[in-house]
Amino acid sequence: SDSFLEAEYREEDALEGRLRPQRLKEFQGQRALKENLSVFISAAKERQESLDHVFLSGPPGLGKTTLAGILANEMGAEFKVTSAPALEKPKDLAGILTTLGEGNVFFIDEVHRLKPALEEMLYIAMEDYEIDWIVGQGPAARTIRIPLPPFTLIGATTKAGQVTGPLFSRFGITVRMDFYTEADLKAIIARSASILSVSIGDDAVAAIAQCSRGTPRVANRLLRRMRDFAQILGNGSIDAGIVSEGLKRLEIDHFGLEKHDREILRTIIEQYDGGPVGAETLAISVGEAVESLEDFYEPFLIQRGFLQRTPRGRTATPLAYQHLGIDPNTGRSK
Ligand code: ADP
Repeated sequence: SDSFLEAEYREEDALEGRLRPQRLKEFQGQRALKENLSVFISAAKERQESLDHVFLSGPPGLGKTTLAGILANEMGAEFKVTSAPALEKPKDLAGILTTLGEGNVFFIDEVHRLKPALEEMLYIAMEDYEIDWIVGQGPAARTIRIPLPPFTLIGATTKAGQVTGPLFSRFGITVRMDFYTEADLKAIIARSASILSVSIGDDAVAAIAQCSRGTPRVANRLLRRMRDFAQILGNGSIDAGIVSEGLKRLEIDHFGLEKHDREILRTIIEQYDGGPVGAETLAISVGEAVESLEDFYEPFLIQRGFLQRTPRGRTATPLAYQHLGIDPNTGRSK
């Protein structure tokens, strides 16, 4: 994919790490969520127990990994990170579990992609703090129990619906992350600008916030691109003029839609008569992996009312026609 934001949102780099909040009080927005977590953290610490297992779901870039790291920091616990697709065999998971120390926070990203055998190992690890390990083969095979210290598992996913019931039910704390408000995004952008020591006007902060798809990672990416434009086209400070020129060059409109979003909507309208069209077919038509269509593009398009997900497929809404300037009756550009 040549899409600017989507390609970039996958890559982790040093700058993103610098912008990542380390403590709960630096984590912007999501107030109700923070208040609850802060109670659970204090209570667990007071009892000198590990924090209950935490399930985090929501679209990419909303702060799931960040929050997991923060929970470890707030608990004063060691943080270990992996991702389900990286775990091939039971021994891969057992290898990590058996190195966990007391109270460690173990983060598994994309937890919906755990293989069944590994998932079963995790059930017992989460519930009883042990692993059942089979040694030997055939009639000589026997199970040995390996005890584990109490630890906290944090599972994150962009696809809560694909997590099995038995796994989901073993998380004591479940958090559904939602898109951020513009006010929260403004706070995130202002904080990041100050960490990057770049000067930025309030109206520029607001303009970036408006185009950030409700997503902190996108807000930070846009800020950094605007910093580039300001440096090369201007005097180094980001003002409203720089943002407006920068967004035009990146082909991002005032709703935060990028070229690829508009192509998706246009394809549904022009090739499939407005829909419904199945996700697989649509992904092929726009030259996108179905994963990134479903994880990155669709949630925002749906939330903003441009797209609807129906049992028979995706449909473009009247707002999509209006935004693209297409007459819904004739299918022609206005
Ligand atoms: P996810 O794991 O959900 O894909 P991340 O935790 O990697 O998202 O967050 C992406 C980036 O956005 C992080 O590098 C962090 O700098 C920033 N970020 C996310 N949430 C917040 C927040 N609430 N406050 C400030 N920055 C945030």
